[in-house]
Amino acid sequence: MNEMKCSYCNNEAIEEAYGKAYCKKHFNNYFLGRVRSIIDKFKIKGKIAVALSGGKDSSACFYALHNLKLELVPFYINLGIKNYSDICQEKAEELCQQLGYELNVIYLADYGIELEKYKKPCSTCGTAKRYLMNKFAYENGCKYIATGHNLSDIVTFAMNNFISGNILNFRGNKPYLQGKEEYKLVAKIKPLFWLKDKECMLYTWINELAYAEEECPYSINAPTIKIKEWLNRLEAEKEGTLMNIARSLWKLEEKMEKDVKLNLCSNCGYVSYGKICKFCKIRKK
Ligand code: SF4
Ligand code: ZN
Ligand code: ZN
Repeated sequence: MNEMKCSYCNNEAIEEAYGKAYCKKHFNNYFLGRVRSIIDKFKIKGKIAVALSGGKDSSACFYALHNLKLELVPFYINLGIKNYSDICQEKAEELCQQLGYELNVIYLADYGIELEKYKKPCSTCGTAKRYLMNKFAYENGCKYIATGHNLSDIVTFAMNNFISGNILNFRGNKPYLQGKEEYKLVAKIKPLFWLKDKECMLYTWINELAYAEEECPYSINAPTIKIKEWLNRLEAEKEGTLMNIARSLWKLEEKMEKDVKLNLCSNCGYVSYGKICKFCKIRKK
């Protein structure tokens, strides 16, 4: 087999992206450059709460931000899912040890929520995660929350909404969402916005970062799996497709952005779209 050379040095290449070949060192530079472009563009400075899920993407995200020497506070939300949540927590702990941080852990059970009791566990889980992330970041004086959503996930999620006619669910398709102090709403960043699934995987591997291979048992029949496969085929045929879709989504979102009316939840005092926030509604059920 012919050995492919890195486009930037004489070493053997391990990956190709957008017409360039990369050795391990230069792939790390490429990856970090993509993350840095977002940090610089939005002038991210100050404490960042980093959401770790135990999976490869949040591990990659954390490591990249660590390499950019940002001020990080890692946390993990234990969802109480059998044969899954505890394994992921161990991996998140292992990663924090590798990088010299202490992991903060939030237990969903402390809020009286057991996902298995809900008809739509993913929808409850999504609401709970958004709420608890924001609360954690706010209470710990963080200016931002960083999540590990990558380019493949963002486009897949948006396509899923498109396909199900759910265009109004179309928020969050950009790398930075502004916070609102008066509503106790912390800003969100997606440092992996320009990086594909397989690039995040490779970054995690070559840097020997701890991550869990387990998938959430509730994700097995998710419609997004098929959509992601389909998008990956498109991307394989024409590299750059995912990036172009993400660019379009970002532009579309800015056009659609109208002033969403926010309130403070009359029960817990955090940001809400109605009188009572979705999280408090779930807890009351
Ligand atoms: Fe939560 Fe699992 Fe559903 Fe993901 S697949 S939203 S982790 S319950
Ligand atoms: Zn090289
Ligand atoms: Zn509330």
